[in-house]
Amino acid sequence: MSGLDQLQYLSWVLYLVVFGLVLVRTIRRPTPAHVDMTLFFGAVATVIVLTTLSTKFHAAPSVIADDISAVALMALGYLLLRLVRDFSEVPTLLMRAVEVGMVASIASVLLVPQPIPAWLVLALLAYLVLVIGYDAGAFGRRAADTSGVTRRRMQAAAIGSLCVGLVLFVAGLGLVDADRAPVWNELSALLGLASGACYFIGFAPPTWLRRAWQEPEVRAFLSRARQLVSLPEVRDIVQDLERGAANAFGAPAARIALWDPDRQGLLVLSADGAELPPRLGQAWAEQRPTLVSDTAHGDVDGPSLLGVENARAALSAPIGGHDGRMGVLVVFAPASPLFANSDLELIQVLADQCAVILESKMLIDNSARVRAREESARLKEDFLSSAAHDLKTPLTSIVTQAQVLRRRAERDPTAPADRIGLDRLLQQSDRLKNLVLELLDVSRLEQGSLIGEREEVDLTELVNTLAQHDAVGWKRVQIETPRPVPASVDPPRFEQVVTNLVENALKYSPLQTPVLVSVWSANGEACLSVRDQGIGIPADDQPLVFERFHRARNVDDRRFAGMGLGLYIARGIVEQHGGRIWVESTPGLGSTFNVALPRGGPEAGVSETAPAESPNL
Ligand code: ADP
Repeated sequence: MSGLDQLQYLSWVLYLVVFGLVLVRTIRRPTPAHVDMTLFFGAVATVIVLTTLSTKFHAAPSVIADDISAVALMALGYLLLRLVRDFSEVPTLLMRAVEVGMVASIASVLLVPQPIPAWLVLALLAYLVLVIGYDAGAFGRRAADTSGVTRRRMQAAAIGSLCVGLVLFVAGLGLVDADRAPVWNELSALLGLASGACYFIGFAPPTWLRRAWQEPEVRAFLSRARQLVSLPEVRDIVQDLERGAANAFGAPAARIALWDPDRQGLLVLSADGAELPPRLGQAWAEQRPTLVSDTAHGDVDGPSLLGVENARAALSAPIGGHDGRMGVLVVFAPASPLFANSDLELIQVLADQCAVILESKMLIDNSARVRAREESARLKEDFLSSAAHDLKTPLTSIVTQAQVLRRRAERDPTAPADRIGLDRLLQQSDRLKNLVLELLDVSRLEQGSLIGEREEVDLTELVNTLAQHDAVGWKRVQIETPRPVPASVDPPRFEQVVTNLVENALKYSPLQTPVLVSVWSANGEACLSVRDQGIGIPADDQPLVFERFHRARNVDDRRFAGMGLGLYIARGIVEQHGGRIWVESTPGLGSTFNVALPRGGPEAGVSETAPAESPNL
């Protein structure tokens, strides 16, 4: 057997293998694209078998066999164009013209007496070369605007078709230039082998090749997906996965529907929780990847209900977690995919990755919930023990003081009332009352109901009134309020903030030093500061003093009574007014607590100078 023969046999074997594989696939899943593939490769196989029988094995030449082979050959261009029509638009006029051309060429080979004149053979070859050339171009264009496995398979189909066109072209050359027939024969055999190989990898690629082609898409999908679990919302993760899946397919859109046990349905989070139309959820019911071609059929609003335009086909795959079924991944396509089996494999790989990511997110959320529950139980315990401890001190004093007073009254009922003892009793009762009120405020603050009606007030007036009401307590306080500062506040709650800051300033500074309260406007904000020359706050404690129960480490519990709740409540009140509170402090030199509230009123935006950095206290 010559080398030329070997090449020819090899390409024929390849074509027959492709025909066998597409035939089996069509029997299993008779989609229009599969049927058209089978017709095309069936025609090629017919030509191969009949020509081999008559030329190579010198089987009795039969007119019928020759005619069948000629008809199959002349139909090749048209059959390949049908395949092109399965994935792209083919102008109707072109389709009709090719059909007419096919009928005419078949009629001419059947009706014109043998041997057919050379000019007619050339004309028939030219017709085939043109049509197959167009088909090759269509495969090439499709390859350019798809991605992944489909792109590579389309490229192979385009090159395969180009080689078939060239085989026919070279056959024409052989007729015109008979002297160099052996050269043309060899070239034709080589091109035939190349077309067979390309069609083999385009239309029936082995699994390892498909996997290798899928790898870049899967890798791109995974590289993004790995970071997704850190996104705060499942909805964000789902949307990102949808984008990744659509990109992997070069598809316009993808959707993930998750099973909602309460609504007993598959809900698409990215489409505002719309339910997945039943036809698209077929993969869920069957628990295997499925293709729905013509998505509009039967579900008029199917894809558009999910916010997807221009979708005629949908591939879907079940997302199954470790604990069972989770949902479905659906990828939409503008037309039924030509290589549905590859796409179904890929979508299942992606759906499995979606399952891993969504499951990890759920596990992370669950463990965060467990941690939050533990943390809240711990906080409650801390709160109870801290509150109980702080309430116990004044309560013990009250009980002891009351017992002393009773004993005294029993001993000498006529003795005058012990004013000092009664004052001590009242003082401790006040302290107890304040602690209980603080605890109540904390619970109101946490329910978000600390602030009542707001009204437009002048902070200057509010501070001056407070100072007048508690002239004794505020003896050391100097007030710097040059002009009115309007602000919209809940007056009793804002008074509570000012009182707390002033009481702290007095409590944490020596008796002989003054405390300066300033009120002014700056950059559209109403500002208040309380400055003292007291013990100050260590730098690392400064951001923490606004937390619940936090007392700075330079505070001695026996010297300075307190629970560490005042600033926590003050911050809550200020923040619920839309404002800010912060502290600037140098240990040993003093602290300045600042409050800034967004200001209403006509003067908003007019800036005054803030009080001097070191007021002359
Ligand atoms: P309390 O004063 O009851 O401990 P606060 O919440 O009012 O609770 O204050 C929290 C902590 O902030 C105080 O324990 C103290 O360490 C620190 N602190 C508050 N105001 C001052 C201040 N003017 N000077 C120094 N430290 C202060």
